[in-house]
Amino acid sequence: MANDPSAAGPVPTSTAALKEFKHFINGQFVGSQSGKSFEKRSPSDNHLIGHVHEGGQAEVDAAVAAGRAAMDGPWGRMSIDERAALLHKVADEITRRFADFVAAEMADTGQPKSMMEHAFIPRGAANFKIFADVVKNVATESFMTPTPDGAGALNYAIRVPKGVIGVICPWNAPLLLMTWKVGPALACGNTVIVKPSEETPGTATLLGEVMNAVGVPPGVYNVVHGLGPNSAGEFLTKHDGVAAITFTGETRTGAAIQKAAADGIRDVSFELGGKNAAVVFADCDLDAAIEGTMRSVFLNCGQVCLGTERVYVERPLYETFVATLKARAEALKLGPSEEKGVTLGPLISREHQAKVLGYYARAKAEGATIVTGGGVPEMPGALSQGSWVQPTIWTDLPETASVVREEIFGPCCHISPFDSEAEVIAKANDTRYGLSTAIWTRDLQRAHRVAAKIEVGITWVNSWFLRDLRTPFGGSKQSGIGREGGVHSLEFYTELRNICVKL
Ligand code: NAD
Repeated sequence: MANDPSAAGPVPTSTAALKEFKHFINGQFVGSQSGKSFEKRSPSDNHLIGHVHEGGQAEVDAAVAAGRAAMDGPWGRMSIDERAALLHKVADEITRRFADFVAAEMADTGQPKSMMEHAFIPRGAANFKIFADVVKNVATESFMTPTPDGAGALNYAIRVPKGVIGVICPWNAPLLLMTWKVGPALACGNTVIVKPSEETPGTATLLGEVMNAVGVPPGVYNVVHGLGPNSAGEFLTKHDGVAAITFTGETRTGAAIQKAAADGIRDVSFELGGKNAAVVFADCDLDAAIEGTMRSVFLNCGQVCLGTERVYVERPLYETFVATLKARAEALKLGPSEEKGVTLGPLISREHQAKVLGYYARAKAEGATIVTGGGVPEMPGALSQGSWVQPTIWTDLPETASVVREEIFGPCCHISPFDSEAEVIAKANDTRYGLSTAIWTRDLQRAHRVAAKIEVGITWVNSWFLRDLRTPFGGSKQSGIGREGGVHSLEFYTELRNICVKL
C-alpha cells in the first residue's frame, strides 16, 4: 500500500546537531543582516538538518563589492600561471577533504554514497584542474592587414575577464554543476557570486573553507544563500555590478533571469530543462542498451537534466525491452545514502515529490499502462517521512500525453514502439526541449545519420553521460543558450578584445 506523504507526523530533530549555513562573503562566513533564514530538511527522512541564512539586497551588494575589489586587487594582478596553480590547490584540497564533501552532499540530496564517491565529488574537484589547464593553452587570433601606405597593420586579440559573474545553481548535482561554472570563471580571472539552490546549501559553503585554506584572495569566491524571486537569486540577476549570469535550472526560471539580465544588456549562459529521448534499434546490444537506459532513467532518482524520460524501441525488440527494463527497475534497492547496495535515493524534497506524484496520477488518468511503480514505496521507520517515490515505467500513452511532453525530473519513463527511422526521428524531435539523446544500435552508419538529425546539444551513441569536459555542452531550443566546456567556456567567461597597431 502506498503511503500518503501529507499524513506524515512530527519528525524527530536533534537541536544539538543542527547546522547553520552562513554566506561566504569576502573570505568571511557571515549571517544575514535581516536575520531571515529557512530550514533545510533531509530528503531521506525529513529531519531538520539546519537553518540557512537568507540573503537579501545587503548581502548581494556586499558580495558584488567584494568581487569587484578582488578584481581590482590581488586576484586581478595574478598571472595566468599563478591563478592556475591556485585552482589546482583548490582541487587538491577538495580531494583532501573528500569525506566532508561526500557527507555534505549526501545530507543535502540523500543520494547513494557510492555515486557521490565515484562521480559527483571527484568530478567537482576535476572541474578546477581541467579549466585551469585549458586557459593556459588557448591561443588568440592575429591578422596582418594591408594599408594604402604599404606598411600594414597588425591586429591581435587579447582575452580579459568579464568581471563579477553571478552563478545560479540547481540542486540535482550541487558541487559538480556549481564547479563546472566556477572552475572556468575563476580560471579566466573573474570573480564569482554563487547562489546555491535553497535545497542544497552544503558543499557551496564548504568550498568557502577550501578557498581560504589554499589562499584564494578574499572576494574571489562568494556565496550568498537564499531563494529565487524577491530574494538573493533575483537580486543577483538584477545587480548592476554583475557582468554576466550563468544559470542552470528550469526553463521558466531561465526566462525570468533573461528578462532581469536584459536591463544592463548582461550576457547569459543557460543550461535548462530537457525531455530527452532514448532511441533503441532492434539491432542494438540489448545488455548495453538496458544498462545505459537504467542509468539514464534512474540515476540520481531521475533528477538528471540529461536523463531519459521518453524511450522509443524498434518494434521487434519492444516487448523484450519493456519486460527486461521492468525486471531491472523492480530490482533497484531504495534506501538511505550510507546503506550498502542502495541504488536509488529519495527525491530532493516533499515539494518535488508532490510534483512527481502529480505526474504519476496524470499518467494514470490519461490511460497509461503502469508497467511498474506509480506510487510511494513502503519505507521503514523514519524513512517513511522522506520524499520517496517508486521507480516507474509507463507504456501505451499517445505522444500528446503530459508525461510524454513535460519534464518530470523523477525516476520514470514512458516506452513506446516505432517502425521506421523517419518516424523515430520525428518523435524524438517533437518537443520544445533539445538537450540530449541516446541512440542504441550496432549499425554505425545509421547511428551517424540519425544523430545528425536529432535536435539536441549532445547525442550519445551506445552510451549515456560519457563526458569529456573539453567538448561543447549546452542545449538546443528551450534547453539552453550558449555552450560551455573547453574553449567554449572561455568564450563566455572572457571578453575578446582586438588591438589594431598601424605599422
Ligand atoms: P530552478 O529553476 O527551480 O532553480 C534553480 C536556481 O534558480 C535555484 O538556485 C533557485 O533559487 C534560483 N531561482 C529561482 N527563481 C529565480 C529567479 N526568479 N531569479 C533568480 N534565481 C532564481 O531549478 P531546480 O529545480 O533547482 O533544478 C532542476 C532543473 O534544472 C530541471 O529543469 C533540470 O532539467 C535543470 N537542469 C539543467 C541542467 C543542464 O545542464 N541543462 C543541469 C541540471 C539541471
